[in-house]
Amino acid sequence: MLTVNVTCVACDGTRPCAECRAAGRALTAAGHHVQHSSRTAALRAALAGTYGFEACIVPLAAGERAVADAAVALFDGQSVALAVDDPAVLPHDLPARFRVIERSAFRAGHLPPDWPPQTLAESKTKAAPARLGAGQDHATRRLRDVGLRQGGRRTKGRAREKPPEAKAIVEDEIAWCKASGSVFSIVLVRAPEADEALMVRLLAGVLRAGDGVGRHDGGYVAVLAGAGARVTGAIMRRLNGALGASKSRFRAFFGAASYPADAADAAALFARASGRLGKE
Ligand SMILES: [Zn+2]
Repeated sequence: MLTVNVTCVACDGTRPCAECRAAGRALTAAGHHVQHSSRTAALRAALAGTYGFEACIVPLAAGERAVADAAVALFDGQSVALAVDDPAVLPHDLPARFRVIERSAFRAGHLPPDWPPQTLAESKTKAAPARLGAGQDHATRRLRDVGLRQGGRRTKGRAREKPPEAKAIVEDEIAWCKASGSVFSIVLVRAPEADEALMVRLLAGVLRAGDGVGRHDGGYVAVLAGAGARVTGAIMRRLNGALGASKSRFRAFFGAASYPADAADAAALFARASGRLGKE
């Protein structure tokens, strides 16, 4: 008997979705102990090294190649089944402990009779202690980038588009940081006399790939992935330099706040950054 985690994108496991229920029934019938979790929770466990399961099933949607890469890097020593509709999302060189099953079969609760393998010699429910090797770090960044692309929030190359609401970006970033233990900062920018196209272009010019820009309360919010106070200060100086170099003359005010050091939710972060707005 093994503990098998059904890693779901649709439900949080407290009220299993149809797919999770079907897989759960099949695994229970085969004598396994079934655990349900959201993808975020499974990722958090993988990063913390507190798996608590010996095998897991990860359903993948089209275009989720990065999630497959992340599973390879993060589920270290686990027996993993990737349930896919489209094999094109799979890396070419899957480790031997990975098994590919058809998503349609998974949906119907049909799992291969020999999966998960019962002879996992080195399998331990306790994984290695928390460590973030280069492979894992890379994988988590890739996973995060997928989230950003799906949300349409990448900065580069999107400078001409109207920025989305900052609240949604910040809430996504908080969810990501809770899952990965990462940090981020926001920089609130108020420039009432500047036109939007110019501001968005200036912001996109100083931000890094993976950072985001959103609108908030008549201003703009730059969301700086993984940035603590030092990086945030450097980016604010660059932004200030870009504003100074711009031919247009207008007043601009900046205020920064960091998660989780300054606040634990989006509204409190905005309030904190707003309270620090100063003329630059
Ligand atoms: Zn589910």
